[in-house]
Amino acid sequence: MADCVFCKIIKGELPSYKIYEDEKVLVFLDINPVADGHVLLIPKEHYQIMPDVPDDLLAYAFLKAKELMPKIKSAMQVNYISISVVGMDVPHFHIHIIPRKFNDGLANFWPTKKYQEGEVEKIAKLITNNIKT
Ligand SMILES: [Zn+2]
Repeated sequence: MADCVFCKIIKGELPSYKIYEDEKVLVFLDINPVADGHVLLIPKEHYQIMPDVPDDLLAYAFLKAKELMPKIKSAMQVNYISISVVGMDVPHFHIHIIPRKFNDGLANFWPTKKYQEGEVEKIAKLITNNIKT
């Protein structure tokens, strides 16, 4: 995609700090990190969202993330690595790989809510009905 920031990084039209590259994926430092060593793993082919990515490429991307996690963990000397797919920031599928320390002040998850009376059953049914179809 011509106006995609990540496609421009892949083509070398925009600079990045690459930490890993092969024929299928590119891994580079996020320029707005939530922690030092926060990287993004992207397929080199443009797919907007996770359901668009072919199964074999998606499996490859996650297995590559799994392979890189302990290496990034030891390089950054952190306690653990968070993986997340947010999906709303840049429209080119990417996996965030984030070095984490215990008590690093980052939220472990998004703010949560409580379901109203009867709401949880309704929502569970709504989703399960869509999975069955
Ligand atoms: Zn792209």
